[in-house]
Amino acid sequence: RFISLEGGEGVGKSTQVAALAAALEGRGLKVLVSREPGGSPGAEAIRKLLLEGEEGRWSPRAEALLFAAARADHCEKTIQPALAAGTWVLTDRFLDSSLAYQGEAAALGIEAVRDLHRFGSLDFVPDRTLVLQLPEAEAGARARSRDGHAGDRIGSRPPSYHAAVDAGFRAMAAKEPNRVKLIDASGNPATVTARLLYALGDLLP
Ligand code: C5P
Repeated sequence: RFISLEGGEGVGKSTQVAALAAALEGRGLKVLVSREPGGSPGAEAIRKLLLEGEEGRWSPRAEALLFAAARADHCEKTIQPALAAGTWVLTDRFLDSSLAYQGEAAALGIEAVRDLHRFGSLDFVPDRTLVLQLPEAEAGARARSRDGHAGDRIGSRPPSYHAAVDAGFRAMAAKEPNRVKLIDASGNPATVTARLLYALGDLLP
């Protein structure tokens, strides 16, 4: 099975990726944990281009193409071979981040970004996408309390940007309710992990 974990900044996504992987392994599953942008050597090289340059280096369209190119490589080189070998794949971000960040927040349009995915990755989608959600104030406080997190740009983005990202994720949950589930990320980490597992209930052996 192929699972993606999504969410805006500061929702505890990294913690939950690790906890969910451990929980799935505890049920005897073989799990490969991956992430985006990145997840294959080529896509990690593109990640550097995306995250290490100065802010504003890429236009929104160029950025969307780089994310889509990285995802194409990630699917082909990492995700699909693992799934073919019977391994579960759990990725920290995937298509729905692009739909929310580039499609909705950067205003390129969710359909335009989905078209890039149709071309780049033949519209390959997860069996389930879990979107962690917190009220904006709580997410901002959590994100600011951690130091030097890889791709953090929260300080440089206005609240309206984060609201648009959130709206993008909610639009996807409304559009594809069987694939995309919104998960309450408040409370202690173990409680959140239990909610994630519950949302995978029908996929578990
Ligand atoms: O929280 P994480 O480390 O996954 O975030 C990486 C950075 O990349 C974040 O600043 C996020 O906003 C950004 N990103 C993006 N578009 C994507 C995926 C991630 O702008 N499709």
